[in-house]
Amino acid sequence: MNDTGMPVSTPDILAARPPRNIVDPQRPYAFLVEPECDDRRRVVDVATVFLTNRECPFRCLMCDLWKNTLRERVPPGAIPRQIDYALARLGPARQIKLYNSGNFFDPQAIPRADYPAIASRLRDFERVIVENHPRLCSDHCLRFQQLLAAPLEIALGLETVHTAALRALNKQMTLEDFARAVELLTSHDIAVRAFVLLNPPLVPPGAGVQWAVRSVEYAFSLGATCCSIIATRPGNGIMERLEREGLFRQPALEELEQALADGLALGRGRAFVDLWDVARLVRCNRCGPARLERLRQMNLTQQVLPDVPCSCRQRPAE
Ligand code: SF4
Ligand SMILES: [Zn+2]
Repeated sequence: MNDTGMPVSTPDILAARPPRNIVDPQRPYAFLVEPECDDRRRVVDVATVFLTNRECPFRCLMCDLWKNTLRERVPPGAIPRQIDYALARLGPARQIKLYNSGNFFDPQAIPRADYPAIASRLRDFERVIVENHPRLCSDHCLRFQQLLAAPLEIALGLETVHTAALRALNKQMTLEDFARAVELLTSHDIAVRAFVLLNPPLVPPGAGVQWAVRSVEYAFSLGATCCSIIATRPGNGIMERLEREGLFRQPALEELEQALADGLALGRGRAFVDLWDVARLVRCNRCGPARLERLRQMNLTQQVLPDVPCSCRQRPAE
């Protein structure tokens, strides 16, 4: 039991884990190019390289990113080689995301001696996006920024502004930590992207959309330029347990649709929903594919598009 009343501790989170995947320190575990709406509202191709590296030292309740990580630090030179491997196989892209299932500025994840070699491989991109924990934002971000030819953007997990839920997530971060990180980065011209969870545990039933939108609004108010809303998912062992115990409920597709529409309506910055694996939320095969496509188009156009009509949608009670 932690201080939020959530009956889960770090050892419980670790004990519930299914086995991790076998990954190769010399290869990224995935890479792809996909379109995204950029800060000038153009749709541009963005390469994402999912780097293989040592597991993040935090133990967030909802995290399943450790599945594609290693127990050991990668040797110097491995990360640049992984980037080379992906870039040799990917089509052209204007921007690049280096996502490492953790924190780019954790030296146990990405060896600092590799920063120049990494930066040299990113010369042709118009923007470089990495992810990091707010408490690991420091001068090292600025050092890496100075090595880059392109602007740097750092994606930070805000997760939620519901403070009890945030504590229960075991992220070891307060809203003040998040605000401090955004201030440090934006004051040095590093753009901030925020990740926000829809329906994390402890957010009251029925209030998931409202808290997600409040979280997006908070990130924008601090200076984030875009927010990506993520439907909290099971898959790491402990979340399934919480689901069985009624302490966690995956959002419905309607809630994800509403959260994006409300996030866009704020008019404060770009709002996205993370479409990875959201097909699991489809309950009706008649409208499901069209609704996912609508979300994809809303991400790209940053416009709220008309609802997809279907007989499965019941009129809310008057
Ligand atoms: S900080 Fe990010 S990568 Fe690390 S455990 Fe938390 S959610 Fe996972
Ligand atoms: Zn339907």
